[in-house]
Amino acid sequence: MGDETHNTGGAAAADGERAARREAEALAARLARLQAVTAALSGARTPDEVAEAALSVGLSALGGASGAFLVEGAAGNEFAVLRVAGIAEEPLQSALGARPTPAGAAWQSASPLFIERAGDAEAGFPAFGAAMGPFGWAALMALPLSAEGRVLGMLLVGFAESRPFPGEERVLAAAVAGLCGQALDRARLFVAERVARAEAVAAQRRLSFLDALSGVLTETLDAGPMAERVVELAVPALGDWAALFTSGGELEPSLAAAAGQRSLGERARALLEADPAGRLRAASRGAPPAVLEAEPSAGRPLCAALVPLKSRGELFGVLVVASGDRAQRYGPHDLALLSDVARRTALALEHARLYEAAHQAAQAREDFMQVASHELRGPVTSFRLAVQLLAREVARGDTARLSDRVRGLLRQADRLSRLSGALLDVTRITAGRLALVKRELDLSALARQVVENHAEEAEAAGTAVTVEAEAGVTCQADPERIEQVLDNLLSNAVKYGRGAPVTIRVAGEVGHAVLAVTDRGIGISPEHQARIFGRFERAVPPRNYGGLGLGLWIVRSLVEAHGGVISVVSAPGRGSTFTVKLPRDGE
Ligand code: ADP
Repeated sequence: MGDETHNTGGAAAADGERAARREAEALAARLARLQAVTAALSGARTPDEVAEAALSVGLSALGGASGAFLVEGAAGNEFAVLRVAGIAEEPLQSALGARPTPAGAAWQSASPLFIERAGDAEAGFPAFGAAMGPFGWAALMALPLSAEGRVLGMLLVGFAESRPFPGEERVLAAAVAGLCGQALDRARLFVAERVARAEAVAAQRRLSFLDALSGVLTETLDAGPMAERVVELAVPALGDWAALFTSGGELEPSLAAAAGQRSLGERARALLEADPAGRLRAASRGAPPAVLEAEPSAGRPLCAALVPLKSRGELFGVLVVASGDRAQRYGPHDLALLSDVARRTALALEHARLYEAAHQAAQAREDFMQVASHELRGPVTSFRLAVQLLAREVARGDTARLSDRVRGLLRQADRLSRLSGALLDVTRITAGRLALVKRELDLSALARQVVENHAEEAEAAGTAVTVEAEAGVTCQADPERIEQVLDNLLSNAVKYGRGAPVTIRVAGEVGHAVLAVTDRGIGISPEHQARIFGRFERAVPPRNYGGLGLGLWIVRSLVEAHGGVISVVSAPGRGSTFTVKLPRDGE
């Protein structure tokens, strides 16, 4: 008995020893598994890498067959599946949508949930429990991953067999979850910092781009080269292709400069043209920045952004940038930068335009002063000579050619008064101070009168002038001003008519009267025909023909002030016809 007791006591001791050894071994094994988890997580930098480590090393440390890693969902969504291991993601997503779920309960309570048999799951979470079968799950751990008291994610560990989870396994699970929670927290900080750093780099890049742009915009005051430099700078900083469309007409913006991949540019233009809303045109009329996207079906994807160029309410054109890279989609940051670029470019273009206008005005003034002083010097010199001659002849009592001399003087005086009159008219018209005194005017009679007034001048040039006038063509007009119109046209016809006959036609048409002056002289080539009605515009060399280039501008201004129009039909060497149409009622 004693022996037995002894023996029994010895066996119990041996059993105890074995159990203790087993426990120590199990503890060591659990520690080794925890170490493996720690090692795997230490290399994980992003949430995705943490999920990968948790699902490979963590899952096997806990003896699970398959599982999933959940993280906080986007706004309004409790959680989202980040990664799965050994099961498909889609069915899990939908199983997690059928609330309540073990994951939801564990997330809410922030404490692990252990389901040892599928039946338990069905009792607590009917819809989810029924869905566990297809994943091959008979038992489940839902382990919240927290850091500083906040649940950041969850590890779901599924087991193929129903099984108890004894205390030490629950402790191990909690330890694995703790490690994963810390790793997830670190990863989130890492990602946030990386995003902040990327934003700082992008902001720096935007600043240096704007800096370079300022340099380009102040480098030149010439709009063309400026546009070229802007689009060159925009590629590749803002896209793979860039173009600057200036608003030529209201509907057809014309391309001022483009740079970058030509094929992309062609596709971008096709996209702009194919765009049913006419975005480019809309933008050229001042619509806010817009982004267009082409579906990649036609080849590589394409995304284009359009920004209007506006300064002080005036529209200069549209800046278009296009990118063939999906990742470079134009987001709010890009559009803000593009708007800034467009604003600065528009301002610089406006300055260039103002500079150009000021430069042209200064040049025109200079040209005018030169021509005007030359034009005035001629008649003044002849006038002086004629007066000296006259004085000498009168002193000598030689009066034979007196009346000839006086007529010559009057001619010179007329010429001077015409020139000073033209200068005065320019001032009046430019200042908008042209006052018309209208009354019923007989144009046929006026035409004859004007021809008579120019008889001497025409004779001197050997020009025969005829009037073909319908009787009594009248209109409501300022007689002095219409006489001035005819004076100018007839003088030009004689001056540029090479002595060939000149005809003045007067006719009445429905609603208006027509005055046409035709010569058979040197003519005007088509490229000059519109221009000669502009101020100081001339189409003949000053050496051959004197003149200020003001006559036709004054004529056009006077005709338009009467509500009429003037046009020219001409061919070089064949002569010209200037036609004036005046409304008969003077309106
Ligand atoms: P100006 O005769 O003083 O130069 P105008 O304004 O009267 O100025 O005319 C502008 C230009 O138009 C002239 O310089 C000339 O080139 C052209 N022009 C005007 N009338 C005629 C004409 N009848 N035949 C040919 N050219 C003409």
